[in-house]
Amino acid sequence: MEDFNEKIGWKRRILIVDDEEINREILGNILQDRYDVFYATDGKKAMEMLGDKNSDFSLILLDLLMPVMDGFEVLDLLQGDEVLKHVPVIVMTSEKTAEVKSIKHGAYDFITKPYDMPEVILARCERIIELNEGKSIIRAAEKDELTGLYTREFFFEYIRRFEHIASEQAMDAVVLNIDHFHMINEMYGREVGDRVLCSTAQTLTEMFGGETFIASRTDADSFYLYMNHRENYEGVFDGLQDELSHLTHLPRIRFRIGICQDAEKTLPAENRFDHAKLACDQIRGDYTRQISYYNKEDNDRELYGERLINDMENAIRNGDFIVYYQPKFDIRSDTPHLRSAEALIRWNHPQLGMISPGSFIPLFESNGLIQKLDRFVWEEAAGQIRKWKEEYGIAVPVSVNVSRIDIYDPELENRLAGLVEKNGLTPGELMLEITESAYADNARGLIETVNHLRERGFKIEMDDFGSGYSSLNMLTTIPIDVLKLDMKFVRNMHKDEKSLKLVELIIDIAGFFGVPLVAEGVEDEEQFKTLKEMGCDVIQGYYFSKPVPAEEFGKFVEEEKRRRDAIC
Ligand code: C2E
Ligand code: CA
Ligand code: CA
Repeated sequence: MEDFNEKIGWKRRILIVDDEEINREILGNILQDRYDVFYATDGKKAMEMLGDKNSDFSLILLDLLMPVMDGFEVLDLLQGDEVLKHVPVIVMTSEKTAEVKSIKHGAYDFITKPYDMPEVILARCERIIELNEGKSIIRAAEKDELTGLYTREFFFEYIRRFEHIASEQAMDAVVLNIDHFHMINEMYGREVGDRVLCSTAQTLTEMFGGETFIASRTDADSFYLYMNHRENYEGVFDGLQDELSHLTHLPRIRFRIGICQDAEKTLPAENRFDHAKLACDQIRGDYTRQISYYNKEDNDRELYGERLINDMENAIRNGDFIVYYQPKFDIRSDTPHLRSAEALIRWNHPQLGMISPGSFIPLFESNGLIQKLDRFVWEEAAGQIRKWKEEYGIAVPVSVNVSRIDIYDPELENRLAGLVEKNGLTPGELMLEITESAYADNARGLIETVNHLRERGFKIEMDDFGSGYSSLNMLTTIPIDVLKLDMKFVRNMHKDEKSLKLVELIIDIAGFFGVPLVAEGVEDEEQFKTLKEMGCDVIQGYYFSKPVPAEEFGKFVEEEKRRRDAIC
């Protein structure tokens, strides 16, 4: 341990508790070269100093007779404390009888007053500290036997000591993991695996030993490195890879490296290394990246995502999900009129407030939870069509979104048909939006499903047309009933002539295939007018209305009802 403590100039701390100044001074003089000496003038003050979590004393020299709180009381309090009872105490007394009593109260040793020769006192203190630390070393090993690096426990202890005296120095937490280490073990045997670990430890120590560097090996193939801060780690570990190939004669060994840069020291080192490990884990399996920096925003986002995943099922049960409806207006005649609606989910989270689908749909798509949510929306939407029918006497078709994973559900057709039947609807009233990219994913399976659904009378809309990988060729093979132009075309429409032409072209294509075209994301009159002139059939967008709750949507149904009545 000596080498490290000396290297960083760290001194053990001793607390002298004595009410007489002369005694404090004598002892202080003897010990101060070798130790960091602190003083207390009575037992109560001593306990206050010891109570500070960072006090970290290696030895207490304790007078017995003191005002306020005497030495015996201090001994008893120390014995009763799980942490402090491990700090050795030397009692200073002039009474022979008190010696035995103090040992019974937990003291380690005693020094008689008047004091012995300074060298004797110093030697006694040193010996007791050593003995006591020896005891704790028996409890935990300092070095990893294989690599000679610190064990996890000592690693963090040394960081703590270092930061005690150099809290201002900018330091990084680096976690380096050997990729597929178990494969090396399996392919070449454990001995070779061990050699890789030892060579890594040795090379790292050679590379960084000249700076402040504390290293540990944990979890078999991970190296925790506490090292000087660097703005950029590009190339910093390149030498390691070359040296390892040279030392082990193995094909190129890959590392993954996660770094938490110069985080606040108020955050415990363990947490900083957790962050570095998280960054390291994030690039597992990503062969394009070797280094990953911990980033608070990424981490927060991940935690937020986990929370949403955990809360989702409860939220369905508690009614925190609400379906909104956005009207689609038919613009072919002089006065636009309501044609249908799109059901769009909203999450009113009791703690997090309104959450937009952009934050949870992609998340739920990635883990399959979306299926549950979609079924909920379909059920709500089907029930809503029925309610409007009952209330206003007209049918407003509602489109629901069908996620790509739903397509693989063998029960999809029956499920939808069941909903239609249960609510007394025709299949054409519950329309299905399937995003264009799903067609590219699984063209054959999807075509089959879509064919079956259409045979049963469902209408299929291709959502986000033009956003991804659609080829025009696909339109000749895929049976669809409506094309929904991706929003970005409308957004860019008036930016340049080419974009405008493109929209016109897509409208013509829809016409060629004989399917209506819905333009989404129409926000202003200019867009509306241009689209109308170009022959677009249907418009969905803020220009007419944002998605609104079902009750609010009632006004559109009522108006449409009035229009139809007027025609009759
Ligand atoms: P989407 O299916 O393309 O839905 C259209 C999105 O455009 C909706 O966003 C709608 O609010 C928004 N929008 C409509 N008009 C305008 C406009 O004029 N300007 C702008 N800037 N935006 C407009 P929302 O509701 O946030 O939904 C986003 C996406 O989340 C949807 O895109 C859809 O992919 C997904 N989503 C929403 N609800 C569901 C659902 O129930 N199931 C599934 N699977 N996905 C859903
Ligand atoms: Ca949609
Ligand atoms: Ca869309």
